[in-house]
Amino acid sequence: MVNVPQIFGSLVFDDKTMKERLPKQTYKALKKTIEEDKPLDINVANIVANAMKDWAVEHGCTHYTHWFQPMTGVTAEKHESFINPNDDGSVIMEFSGKELIKGEPDASSFPSGGIRATFEARGYTTWDPTSYAFIKDGSLCIPTAFCSYTGDVLDKKTPLLRSMEAVGREALRVLRAMGDTTTTKVTTTVGPEQEYFLIDKAMFDSRKDLTYTGRTLYGARAPKGQELEDHYFGKIKDKVSSFMKDLDEELWKLGIYAKTKHNEVAPAQHELAPIFTTSNLATDHNQLTMEMMKRIANRHGMECLLHEKPFAGVNGSGKHNNWSIGSSDGANFLNPGKDPINNKRFLIFLSAVIKAVDEHQDLLRISAASAGNDHRLGANEAPPAIVSMFIGSDLEEILESIAYGKDYDGEHRELLETGVTVLPDFKKDTSDRNRTSPFAFTGNKFEFRMLGSNDNIACPNIMINTMIAEALSQFADILEKAEDPDAALIDIVKQTYRDHKRIIFNGNNYAPEWVDEAESRGLLNLRTTPAALAHYCDEKNLEMFGKHKIYSEHELRARCDILLENYSKTINIEALTMIDMARKDIIPAVSKYVKQLVETASAKKALSAEITSELEIEQAIKLSKLQLCFSKRIDKLDSLLIKAGDIHGIQELANFYADEVFPAMQEARIPADEMEMSMDAAYWPYASYGQMLYSVK
Ligand code: ADP
Ligand code: MG
Repeated sequence: MVNVPQIFGSLVFDDKTMKERLPKQTYKALKKTIEEDKPLDINVANIVANAMKDWAVEHGCTHYTHWFQPMTGVTAEKHESFINPNDDGSVIMEFSGKELIKGEPDASSFPSGGIRATFEARGYTTWDPTSYAFIKDGSLCIPTAFCSYTGDVLDKKTPLLRSMEAVGREALRVLRAMGDTTTTKVTTTVGPEQEYFLIDKAMFDSRKDLTYTGRTLYGARAPKGQELEDHYFGKIKDKVSSFMKDLDEELWKLGIYAKTKHNEVAPAQHELAPIFTTSNLATDHNQLTMEMMKRIANRHGMECLLHEKPFAGVNGSGKHNNWSIGSSDGANFLNPGKDPINNKRFLIFLSAVIKAVDEHQDLLRISAASAGNDHRLGANEAPPAIVSMFIGSDLEEILESIAYGKDYDGEHRELLETGVTVLPDFKKDTSDRNRTSPFAFTGNKFEFRMLGSNDNIACPNIMINTMIAEALSQFADILEKAEDPDAALIDIVKQTYRDHKRIIFNGNNYAPEWVDEAESRGLLNLRTTPAALAHYCDEKNLEMFGKHKIYSEHELRARCDILLENYSKTINIEALTMIDMARKDIIPAVSKYVKQLVETASAKKALSAEITSELEIEQAIKLSKLQLCFSKRIDKLDSLLIKAGDIHGIQELANFYADEVFPAMQEARIPADEMEMSMDAAYWPYASYGQMLYSVK
């Protein structure tokens, strides 16, 4: 039996541990740094570093690493041992404040979008004291930000921290203008729900497509998929259950609030949700969660697939980014309370979200854009590529009544239903029914549902925080000048709703009619990653990110280039893998099987004219035709890749991959899947969909 409270956070140098292990003065100074974003004094850092090292060594650590999130999306680490030589040839274990605060990994191989020429490969990592150090694999991991010699950011954490500061600052301005003198700090909170697949490790290893690209590039559908919906919330299989138990324990040790686990819609698909925390911690924790999922799955003879669409025709995996904003002492500004129509703070923050989502649809779409996620957005399982918002009928009525003076009968209705005179809290149910909306109000937070399972949640949260900071900043400009701030606030709510009503859609986002309706409302529909990224550096975005000091123009363009390049590289690797599998495995396998058919036919014939070999001959003809068609399509794909080599311009190349290469891959897959369905399974070189999806018992 594990004692959860005892193991929780046992591998984290958290507040409790700091209090225990640091001299009082040092602890106080460090706390001040964390809470007030003050720079850290080197003397304090020296004492902290030494205490951290002692603690880590007691837990069996020999190394430390600066743990950071470069723009590859995964986390990076470079391990250094604590050893320092003595004069007598022995060693002591040391860790200085300087080593804690600053690291200098050789950064030349991380993508920088041209920010850092290779001759100036230096990049620095600096400790982020708002995220605790932790132990992983016998190493003390120090969460750090990563920037270049010239100070340009090269990671995802720095802009996230900047965006949290920006939205906190602008929110405080609004609160002050409304007469709130007590709130001292505003923070954003996030709870990411993480979907994933688990399949047998040996089957994973047997497939080049899964190994190289994370998804199946070929594969005929299994006779049974998710149509019976019997997997969703179903009984968890023993092997999966023991994986989940291990995972929970490891995450708890790392101080991660793993809370909910269940089976998802597709066979072999599952979900984990933590309890929400600050955006920064939630991001670090989600990165760690994904890493642990993969590692622990391996321990159990399984592979954890985090790709957004590992299997065609089966639901893909996403991530729901639950977001809210509130004071550091626990008030949630998106909580409507008992009387939302008179809750000014709620109304102004709700209005900020509405304005932000409408004005920056492009950025939300971009924040979830990747080659893998293009398989989901717009397919009938995830929200469409069109960004809209769901607020529920009650809130819509409230806003309608404020904006147009219509009657609001919320009170009346509650009374009718409950027969009591005291209004209950605004009911969560009234806003939680829509599961198809990309950006949904769910009672006291917004749930952004476009993310792919593999995404680093820093990106969407940078976007959300910054665009809401901008909306709040515009509101604050008005409120600070207003003679009657209460009246001005209602005016803002009124005007915002009138101006941005088009973004609100409470209907079914999967319905084909919505695409036309959205177009008539003038909403964006950016279907592919390159189409979305083409808007990244639009003037309004450069201006906003510049104003709030999130990204300079230079940094934003670099990021856009990296994402475009990443898209092209991903499709290129997938196409090369398809060609490799076709020529080395699939085509030869079909030939062998056809040979077998032909030999059987002629053996039958030789034995007696009375034994029919019609079936073998028909099959051999059919397969040979499919094989030829397949081979030609693979040749076409190959020639497109050669053509790609002549294309100049990062955006142009990404467009070419989206418009030419990707459709050619889909074309090539069709005859291959048909051949798989027509062949003796023993001849097919790969594990089938049925085997993989039902492999874990
Ligand atoms: P669902 O209806 O989607 O199951 P839950 O209430 O279980 O909703 O919450 C889903 C996620 O939202 C959880 O990770 C939860 O911690 C998170 N969440 C709840 N409140 C907030 C908040 N104020 N800010 C951010 N995330 C939150
Ligand atoms: Mg959810």
